[in-house]
Amino acid sequence: MKVAVLGNSRYNGILKEQLSKEGLSTEFFENIDEIKSISGEAGAFLIKTQKNAVEAGYVIVAGDPSTLEDSSTAQESERQVVILLDYPEESPAYMTETALTKAIRLAGKQKKVFYLSKFMRISGNGLEELYKQARNMGVAFIRYTGIDISRDNCTGMFHLNISDGYDEIGIDTFSLIKTRAAGGNNAARLSGLLKFKLDKGTYASGSSYFLSPSVTSRKGVYFLDGASAGNLGEEIIRQIRFTVSEISSNSAKTCEQTEYAEVDPGKCAFCYTCYRACPHSAMIPDYGNSAMKNLNKACQACGICVSVCPADAIKIKGMDSVVKTVPNSLMVYCCENSGEIAVNRIADEIAGIFEKISIASVSCGGEISAEKIVDALKSYEKVLYVTCKDDACRHFDGNKRARLQTDRAKEMLRSAGLDDSRIVYMQVSHAMPNVLRDNIRDLVLQRQLPI
Ligand code: SF4
Ligand code: SF4
Repeated sequence: MKVAVLGNSRYNGILKEQLSKEGLSTEFFENIDEIKSISGEAGAFLIKTQKNAVEAGYVIVAGDPSTLEDSSTAQESERQVVILLDYPEESPAYMTETALTKAIRLAGKQKKVFYLSKFMRISGNGLEELYKQARNMGVAFIRYTGIDISRDNCTGMFHLNISDGYDEIGIDTFSLIKTRAAGGNNAARLSGLLKFKLDKGTYASGSSYFLSPSVTSRKGVYFLDGASAGNLGEEIIRQIRFTVSEISSNSAKTCEQTEYAEVDPGKCAFCYTCYRACPHSAMIPDYGNSAMKNLNKACQACGICVSVCPADAIKIKGMDSVVKTVPNSLMVYCCENSGEIAVNRIADEIAGIFEKISIASVSCGGEISAEKIVDALKSYEKVLYVTCKDDACRHFDGNKRARLQTDRAKEMLRSAGLDDSRIVYMQVSHAMPNVLRDNIRDLVLQRQLPI
């Protein structure tokens, strides 16, 4: 199986070596300006250049190192500095470390430093100590959900309007230090070729990304976020190992995709709405039929296209096994900090009521994907997902991500014509077993418990 590597990075040699150890051959496209188009799906991509067309089973985007770019207009003399990590998800450990070190250095120079990030990364060697040091030096940490940046061309002042989902605050500064998209213009060009949408001023949109180290929202496409400038860092080696082992194990699998969207060409109005909406680039135009066509291997059966199609031309195939389940059975996913403690307190009470019940604890509510929830419905009648209350989440929005995943799972059920009330999401604290028990009675059982 061939792997196409896009981009001219310093670690291409290591990549080639690691891939060949797994018996995978490589084709490098170092000058991405020569690429005209990338089509196909995992296992069968077609990369057309100005000279030829190459088939490859997988694509790796070899991104350049991200850096902190100083956009300041009068940095040294100004007191107020903003460091902005504009990753839509968790930033790589090396970038968090770079940003924290910079924040500490600036705070040491008596600057008032604001550290803005959508997601505060906590795992990583020594990061906890850096956070502590930064806090002790007065660095202000702000977790934002949205941000507008404008600049006064006369004064050079940046105006930042920051929202955390509840409130808005404004910061004016001459000193703005932000992450620069890996690959610079290459990132924008590659995202276009791979059909990843870019949000204004950041790498990719929330639903289609190639930012999380190694994985992307498109099956078969991987993204390596080049590690810190200078030497090859631990981070990139970790990403390379992960990517190579993923490709190696995926290429060994021969299983067919069992769930995917299917377009009825007779109903399709060829309006391109699903083509634009699909976060996994799984819809392609079928000009011969004047209708959209689904790439089954790329499709993740998320149901987004079903919900946006104005012609009701799409159905999710292969969800039959979700229909046949053990009656009166319950799968509970719960956060170890809240739901697990509460569930354990009422475990005896609910155990006698269900024919079958399983309780799985997760360290962060955001761990369980919509696909996993739907998968559980193949063995259980209902799935209950219990996380911490808003603002009590220790993992920075793990509970919100859990809610998002349950919403997505419900959407998948609806798009397959199934009952979405089989999935229930709840927030409780560890001290709310009685509330949980009552909610199980009302929402999960939809009948009275003998308690
Ligand atoms: S949204 Fe529906 S009608 Fe429009 S192209 Fe897709 S399948 Fe066809
Ligand atoms: S179900 Fe999801 S992944 Fe599949 S084509 Fe529709 S939007 Fe794309």
